[in-house]
Amino acid sequence: MAAVLPEGRLFLITGPSGVGKGTLVAALLARHPQIWLSISATTRTPRSGEVEGQHYFFLERSAFEAKVAQGGLLEWAEFAGNCYGTPREPVERQLAAGRPVLLEIELEGARQVRRSFPSGFQIFIKPPSFEELERRIRGRGTDSEEAISRRLQRAQVELQAEAEFDAVLVNGDLNEALAQLERLMGLA
Ligand code: 5GP
Repeated sequence: MAAVLPEGRLFLITGPSGVGKGTLVAALLARHPQIWLSISATTRTPRSGEVEGQHYFFLERSAFEAKVAQGGLLEWAEFAGNCYGTPREPVERQLAAGRPVLLEIELEGARQVRRSFPSGFQIFIKPPSFEELERRIRGRGTDSEEAISRRLQRAQVELQAEAEFDAVLVNGDLNEALAQLERLMGLA
């Protein structure tokens, strides 16, 4: 578990909704607490159990738009009817302090970050199959049928983008995926 990460490096994880990015990232952070995970702003309503400032900063749309207008977001995108964005200042501060920074965001945001941080390392997480992805999204039991179908439609688009990424990782077995992620990030 030695910290051999290059200092102040920006890592980014993308993948379709339901692929298990959140679980993978939580497992990674538990093993490597030196990594700083960016907390996004969103206009989505909190799911049960989600905590303000821990999972997201939950904002009204007007407050989100004000942040965009002030240049306060490093990137932002609309996803399944809600806005999501990365607060700029904490990311810049952590990078300047030499800490490895991790963003877990969707495809449009990843493309924006690629332009502003071309030296960042971007990893695409994909499911073993589309059927498995659908099973996981439905199994989560947290989204309406409308939200599920929007997420599945979006997943079809996102899955076409894997070639844009520095690395692609299949999330079948969590432990295997975690080990691969650690190798990719220079942690193993
Ligand atoms: P969820 O509503 O399931 O929490 O997130 C929906 C999607 O938004 C996920 O693919 C997640 O990675 C993405 N997302 C979360 N935070 C951000 C962000 O700050 N910027 C962008 N572009 N996407 C985000």
